[in-house]
Amino acid sequence: MSDPTRTHQNSAKAFERALQVMPGGVSSPVRAFKGVGGTPIFIARGAGAIVEDVDQNQYIDYVGSFGPLIVGHANDRVVAAAAKAMGRGACYGAPTELETQLAGMIVEALPAADMVRFVNSGTEAAMSVVRLARAATGRDLLVKCIGCYHGHVDSLLVQAGSGALTMAEAESRGDANNSAGGNTPPISAPSSPGIPRSLAATTLLTPYNDLHAAERLFDERGAQIAAFLVEPVAGNMGVVPPEAGYLDGLRELCTKHGALLIFDEVMTGFRVGWGGAQALYDAAPDLTCLGKIIGGGLPVGAYAGRRSLMEMVSPAGSVYQAGTLSGNPLAMSAGLATLEILREGAGECYVHLEKSAETLMSGLIGAAHAAGVALTVNRVGSMLTPFFTRMAGAPVRNFDDAMTCDTAAYAVFFHAMLERGVFLPPSQFEAWFVSTAHEDLLIESTLSAAKESFDAVAKSRGS
Ligand code: PLP
Repeated sequence: MSDPTRTHQNSAKAFERALQVMPGGVSSPVRAFKGVGGTPIFIARGAGAIVEDVDQNQYIDYVGSFGPLIVGHANDRVVAAAAKAMGRGACYGAPTELETQLAGMIVEALPAADMVRFVNSGTEAAMSVVRLARAATGRDLLVKCIGCYHGHVDSLLVQAGSGALTMAEAESRGDANNSAGGNTPPISAPSSPGIPRSLAATTLLTPYNDLHAAERLFDERGAQIAAFLVEPVAGNMGVVPPEAGYLDGLRELCTKHGALLIFDEVMTGFRVGWGGAQALYDAAPDLTCLGKIIGGGLPVGAYAGRRSLMEMVSPAGSVYQAGTLSGNPLAMSAGLATLEILREGAGECYVHLEKSAETLMSGLIGAAHAAGVALTVNRVGSMLTPFFTRMAGAPVRNFDDAMTCDTAAYAVFFHAMLERGVFLPPSQFEAWFVSTAHEDLLIESTLSAAKESFDAVAKSRGS
């Protein structure tokens, strides 16, 4: 039941103050969602799978900071590791053994990683691999999939997913989909003002999960293409898994044309399994971007790949890339503690995550069906998106499919869940994240709230 005793005055006041000194009152656009009374909820603390806002309302959290918190909020071991690192001094401008340890763990886990360079965010990782790929191939063009998101890098913020997509969708309800159909190559339109068109033009677009379209692109421009960048499981148009043969096909195509295949595993790395999507799908990228989980909730990013490529990076090679806070001891320590938890017991964490996420998914499908609301749930491991499709179970294979979903229904569902103490990503085009702290009882409570919230959707549609 929606809880009428929940109040949100403190969040409203906090938002008012924030709006005075920060654009939109937030540090990242999707956080500015219009929650109860039109303001976002301001979070005071988190523990396990629960967050508490500044009005002392508690929520079961499926945002999970958009991915990093796979072992939940304030996990004892992660907190202790970060606190210990802080006690030894926050950072030094000199190497620490923590970096080597975390890099070693990444190399151990990811089949396509011989060496690792740490940066401070997923955006930085993507920006840096683009430079490396261009340097390695002597070519300028990139290919990215429509609706995938690789951070706010100028040349990659072109028909981008995540917040860029949500904002565009909000502005032009119903016709945000400006991807061209058929054989017409989509136009490389920047997702933000301030990006030179000439730079956006170096990014070619192709629909996700469409190998034929990628082949056509390579037939036309293959000799100029430095790299194909892809989220191996798309997470930023909502979760969309790769179809059988897609990742292998991209591998063959890149090899044939002398381009590099880059997996952006900022979201999927250590999320869909210990070895990321590359192990799950037995795929072989040349370079991999990482972030989120490897920092245990602290700011981090990394890129990794074959030794011959990684040794082109400065100071081993001439491709310049640097960072005052890169390899920060707090982030390394929190990341190491997180990965240690995930590695224990031969990956039993992932078995547990799979079970919880499967229970959540099937419960959502059942509850939607009972309420007469059409729903498709895409899920890979502990990341999932319930899409409000036109027909129950209608496939969502790419951006165009995602864009046919009823975002107004998602908004009704989101608000109904929030009022019932469940915190979801505020957009249809984001992934929900289950953590090891989402115990059975919490999943059950979530599903009870979902039953009522699907009824609210049905009511809003007048059915
Ligand atoms: N790549 C992917 C696949 C992401 O999901 C994100 C962020 O959500 C990024 C890159 C950018 O990472 P960050 O927000 O740390 O810059």
